[in-house]
Amino acid sequence: MIDNVAMTKLMFDIFDLEGKKLSINELLDTFCRNLGLVFGVQAQARTVNRSQILPSEEFTINTMRPYTDNRLSNYSSFKEFVDYFNSGYRSCAILPIVVSGRSFAIVELLSREEDEFDKNAINALMIVTIVLGYQISARIEGEKSISVAKYFDAAFNSVIPQLLIDQSGKIVKANKSMLILFSSSIKEISGRNFGELFEIGTQGLQDLVRGVPAQARTLGTDARTFRATANNVSENLLHVAFYDTTGLKELEERTKVLKYSGYEAMLMMDQQTNVTWASENLEKVAKLQGSGVVGRQLIGMVLDKERFREAVRGIESGIATDSIRLDVGNGVYVDLKATLFRNEIYGISCILANNMLENRFRSMERNLDELVRLSSDSVIFVDQLGYIQRLNKSTEDILGYREQDIIGNPASMLYVTQQEQERFLRSLSAAKNEGMIDNIFATMKGKKDGVSVPCTQSIRSVYDTDGNLTGYIVVSKELLTKQALDAAEERLVAGVRQVEKLESESDLKTQFIYNISHDLKTPITNIKGFSTLLYNGDLGAVNEEQKGYIKIIIDESDRLMELIKQILDVAKLSSGKIKLEPQPTSFKKLGENPSIKALEEVAAGKGLIFSWNVDYDVGEVIVDPNRIIQVFVNLINNATKFTDHGSISVNVTRKGKGSVRVEVKDTGIGISKEDQRKLFRKFYQVHRKELTVQQGSGTGLGLSIVKEIVNLHGGKIGINSELGKGSTFWFTLPISGKKKKGKEAKEQAEQKEAIEGEKA
Ligand code: ADP
Repeated sequence: MIDNVAMTKLMFDIFDLEGKKLSINELLDTFCRNLGLVFGVQAQARTVNRSQILPSEEFTINTMRPYTDNRLSNYSSFKEFVDYFNSGYRSCAILPIVVSGRSFAIVELLSREEDEFDKNAINALMIVTIVLGYQISARIEGEKSISVAKYFDAAFNSVIPQLLIDQSGKIVKANKSMLILFSSSIKEISGRNFGELFEIGTQGLQDLVRGVPAQARTLGTDARTFRATANNVSENLLHVAFYDTTGLKELEERTKVLKYSGYEAMLMMDQQTNVTWASENLEKVAKLQGSGVVGRQLIGMVLDKERFREAVRGIESGIATDSIRLDVGNGVYVDLKATLFRNEIYGISCILANNMLENRFRSMERNLDELVRLSSDSVIFVDQLGYIQRLNKSTEDILGYREQDIIGNPASMLYVTQQEQERFLRSLSAAKNEGMIDNIFATMKGKKDGVSVPCTQSIRSVYDTDGNLTGYIVVSKELLTKQALDAAEERLVAGVRQVEKLESESDLKTQFIYNISHDLKTPITNIKGFSTLLYNGDLGAVNEEQKGYIKIIIDESDRLMELIKQILDVAKLSSGKIKLEPQPTSFKKLGENPSIKALEEVAAGKGLIFSWNVDYDVGEVIVDPNRIIQVFVNLINNATKFTDHGSISVNVTRKGKGSVRVEVKDTGIGISKEDQRKLFRKFYQVHRKELTVQQGSGTGLGLSIVKEIVNLHGGKIGINSELGKGSTFWFTLPISGKKKKGKEAKEQAEQKEAIEGEKA
């Protein structure tokens, strides 16, 4: 890396060259040799000769700024850089040597190391090239032995406006060009503050002091822009030179546009019409190869030389010739319109326009417009922020809006739902990234009652000639048939649902059994009543054997009554006819309920340990206590029935902010995965050989009742179980007693659907 010691050595070298009688080329060579030795890089300098400029050098010459590529590769921006890479170099820097405000020579530095020329190194090197520039300018002025201070005087003679200012910004000296620029005398300018002449800003001033170029503008109405560069002459003197960039800016803009232009190309020439530069598209426009014209005299190729000369003599700004005929070689001629204008930096610039191409482009543009106009699809032009700019007739027909009603509105207003609007905006940003989006489905909003208009859409991004995004074209194909199909499908789906519902085995079964059960209730009550009278001997004596049979009748009627009660319950619950009676309920207190206590005794009778645990942070919950007791009775009953050893525990815990979770856990026979899935269906019973008569005697309705009750409370229910190890039935209940609308309700619906789906 380039360090201070090396820099000082190089500075001394340059001052050392001063007394030697070297030609300018020798001066440059010696400088480069020293530079190479001191920094261990390859250095080479060439004076600027406009006829042989490499593209990389052209940048440096025009901008008077250094250009570096610290990672040369096969993909470097200039062809010559790729060549350097192939010769084993890894970094390259090109520095201008500026003499009297022009790039006089360039120094090319090459290193076999990557990242050799970082910012600091380049800044340091620019200082030595500036000093060298002054020395060269002194030679050009013909002065033989001149002190460094006098270089500035020499520089002061140039056409570039220059100032010497002190630390406070006061003007110590101004050169002639500066006086001309402000039409003032030396007396009027000296002593004034630099800020009174130029607008440069605090940042600009700081940059200047640090040796970084800054933008400056003259104050006043016809302000000119400058690139100001400064360097320290002494500790408290700053030398500032102002390069006029007013014209350069225009030129840069113009050339940038030209790169993309299909029918206009540009040439730059010196005063003698020697072509010094040609835009890239010259070949496309004028059948002329840039490399073939640069260095030649344009006038040499013009057929009517006199007329062209006249135009050149007369140019001020923008003189257009009707048409000039150019001989492009091999007996081929092209007719072009030439617009000549004076260019402060290069001499003369010329825009060559190909009329034939121009006409063709214009007619293409017209055709395109016509195509859009006639298209049966909706075509909408949207700006880069998504606002409607223009639309074709079909858009009006399809959506029913009139152009003047919607222009200037956000295009998202043309979509039905917020979701669709967001999707449209996402499509725009996808088109922005990828240039296009094809055949996405969208639902647009028609004007009349906001009807939905389904369509497929394609989006293209539109760019200006500088490659900046200016907007999008949105083409929408209406899908009326699709709409009709959708409606039909909807009807079909609804129909199928209804059939499914009617066919639903359990629904029919429930309904059927409900009706029968209802009818059975009275006769069974009668059977039981009379049997009891018989059993008690109230209707005459019965012997012991007869009594045994009557007892069976009584037990069976009890069982039937129980079954009927459950069936009626489940039927009512699933038809939604049951209304809960919610109230603040303490789960601790529920544990004291006589039904629970009775079950506890049954469990104890089987030798099982029973526990009822409610966490300290479970407060009152809004539920229907009778229904929740029914749930507990069912679950604990099952647990006791299917557990021979171990324990049964009920655990109530807090689940998040809004719910409680209840578990009824046993260490019984467990339930297989297969059965777990079907468990909550109506009438489902697990068929297992080893079950006792008592265990197998249920109705298969208990769990479906439990599930209905939990769901009615807005809770969820589930089971974890392992065969041979035990089962845990769990359910949740919202503390507030309110069913959640959003996520949970959806989950419940899904749960219900999943379970019902399995019935099929
Ligand atoms: P039932 O009235 O037949 O008990 P349920 O709906 O309450 O009807 O239960 C359905 C089936 O689930 C039962 O027949 C039983 O096989 C099984 N079951 C329920 N709870 C348990 C449990 N805690 N342990 C083992 N199996 C159980």
